[in-house]
Amino acid sequence: MLNEAVKELTCIICPNGCRLNCIKNSSGVSITGARCPNGKNYAIAEFTNPMRVLTCSVKVEGGEYPVVSARTDGMIPKALVGKAMARVNRIILKAPVNAGDTIIKNIAGAGVDIIATKNIRGSGGRLS
Ligand code: SF4
Repeated sequence: MLNEAVKELTCIICPNGCRLNCIKNSSGVSITGARCPNGKNYAIAEFTNPMRVLTCSVKVEGGEYPVVSARTDGMIPKALVGKAMARVNRIILKAPVNAGDTIIKNIAGAGVDIIATKNIRGSGGRLS
């Protein structure tokens, strides 16, 4: 059939790891291989608008380490990951940084924030 897209996925929702076959055409999206509805929903989301939690490192000045680990506090469209990382890579924080601190609000307009996931003490050993 014309304009048909086919993709194979492994469902990551539970340890069963079902192999999912996805076919998208003018009639819609068809999923086979899922042993439960969660896998079908996962495959449709992956096929139409894949989402990810973005994990990254952010530069820190004046701290015990030069970077702090961070992540989004929710999922963002995979298509926005590059734009989000470009923004993250321009940020330089000043130590101290506390786990849970908001680093960037509404990253790439995705409606979620980048938050620190570690404590970084100032080079004098101080946390705020
Ligand atoms: S389709 Fe259902 S049973 Fe299979 S891996 Fe996904 S969640 Fe688990």
